[in-house]
Amino acid sequence: MAAAPIIVWFRADLRLHDHAALSAAAATGAPVIPVYVHDEETPGGWQRGGASRWWLHESLKSLDEDLRKLGSSLVFARGPALDVLRDMARETGAGAIFWSRAYEASEIKLERKLHGALEGAGVRCRRFSGALLFEPEDIKTGAGTAYRQFTPFYKTCLSKLEPGATIRAPAALPRVPDGVESDRLEAWGLKPVKPDWSSSIAAAWTPGESGAQARLDRLVDEILQGYPASRDFPGTDGTSRLSPHLHFGEVSPRVVWNAVKMAAGAKGGQLDAGMECFLRQLLWREFCHHLLFDRPSLATAPLRPEFAKFPWQNNAGTLEAWQQARTGYPIVDAGMRELYSTGWMHNRVRMVVASFLVKHLLLSWQHGAEWFQDTLVDADHANNSANWQWVAGCGADAAPYFRIFNPVLQGKKFDANGAYVKAWVPELARLPKTRIHEPWKANKAELEKARINIGETYPQRIVDLGEGRKRALAAYESIKCSAV
Ligand SMILES: Cc1cc2nc3c(=O)[nH]c(=O)nc-3n(C[C@H](O)[C@H](O)[C@H](O)COP(=O)(O)OP(=O)(O)OC[C@H]3O[C@@H](n4cnc5c(N)ncnc54)[C@H](O)[C@@H]3O)c2cc1C
Repeated sequence: MAAAPIIVWFRADLRLHDHAALSAAAATGAPVIPVYVHDEETPGGWQRGGASRWWLHESLKSLDEDLRKLGSSLVFARGPALDVLRDMARETGAGAIFWSRAYEASEIKLERKLHGALEGAGVRCRRFSGALLFEPEDIKTGAGTAYRQFTPFYKTCLSKLEPGATIRAPAALPRVPDGVESDRLEAWGLKPVKPDWSSSIAAAWTPGESGAQARLDRLVDEILQGYPASRDFPGTDGTSRLSPHLHFGEVSPRVVWNAVKMAAGAKGGQLDAGMECFLRQLLWREFCHHLLFDRPSLATAPLRPEFAKFPWQNNAGTLEAWQQARTGYPIVDAGMRELYSTGWMHNRVRMVVASFLVKHLLLSWQHGAEWFQDTLVDADHANNSANWQWVAGCGADAAPYFRIFNPVLQGKKFDANGAYVKAWVPELARLPKTRIHEPWKANKAELEKARINIGETYPQRIVDLGEGRKRALAAYESIKCSAV
């Protein structure tokens, strides 16, 4: 008698390499049904924004092509995941369903329900790890609680065993059994149509596992060594740009970790400063995911409860100016344009634009997080929420609220020659570099020569930095007082 098929349920693990669930299913020799369920009906999940939906389309297309090279294909199914998978198991006579574990409350709930429904019907459910290097249960404080400080979390991770060897992709897969129906991916409407704003994003990225591998190779060959020095300078290409690939699971963090360790091995086994600094960032990603696992409300509620009473302003006009890169502060506007154009923004500039929003404009971090959620290709429930809270001063291990980034000084320090601003705000490109981060200080002759008319060709500043800072500190004092 033919073996019952095994369903492999793909979610944020859109890859073939280092995919424990897929490899385990393939190893049984049973027919395998790889499926992705597009579920917009189950309530409670974190909603994908436009840029993320574009990436998802491309990534699924790429995964399907990669599966076809092995003899299989991706089944595209749509509807509430629980119903779709239960029906599919019944209709195909599946004996088991395998998946990679998720860490968001709504997905965990879904996994539990699926387990209950299918095990009850005689379908074996197996859950594998793959999205994180360390499971939240394994990294706890001495008191058995989740960490709220990064450094002890980091040290505990490093004291654990290495994440283990990478699992090879299956060499071949059986054909999807006859009769299993699939939607057309194009019919899901994940890509923008009218207007189609995706061409500049498409030009910047190659979604899918081979695109992720190319970024990883580049990291190891060209970026790692100079990473500690270059990672803070947005005008240089000094970071990995692996974030969307990691978010969609086109590469596992373990593969990235092992690639860095192998590079160290090739140099005698010692991690150099670049390697160490990079692995630390990967562990920031872990930290954010552990926080979300512990605090499912991370996107909506401040971790420091006194911030629930913070007197945020409600000003649609300034929010729109920030979103549309019309603040009059060149580094902020450059960042917001990079974001809108490529779906990504350099980490240093993310911190600057976020701080400007929550401190100088006194608009809630949730507004900023929502805009990032809609526009980032790497928009990620854990990383986005934890980092916005960190900048706003209400999160874990957050910078003290009174430490307020000055966008002019940040620009002068991290974009000294103005290369980043010139790339994204070309109307300022003819200004001397001493004026590029504060065009309002240029004299008449400098402005004329650069063909800039402040208020016409480039916006007036929407807030005075000194006044904004004073107002932010007063707002903070008000919650400090009420917390006492
Ligand atoms: C306000 C704000 C919002 C952010 N929102 C997101 C988001 O939605 N998705 C996202 O992936 N990152 C987010 N980040 C973190 C960080 O900016 C990006 O991960 C990084 O810029 C991605 O570029 P990279 O891959 O070249 O990073 P690299 O410097 O090459 O770092 C390697 C990897 O480490 C991880 N990493 C690096 N920095 C952080 C960090 N601060 N927190 C968590 N993980 C980190 C990422 O997975 C990244 O791909 C946010 C940061 C801020 C300040």
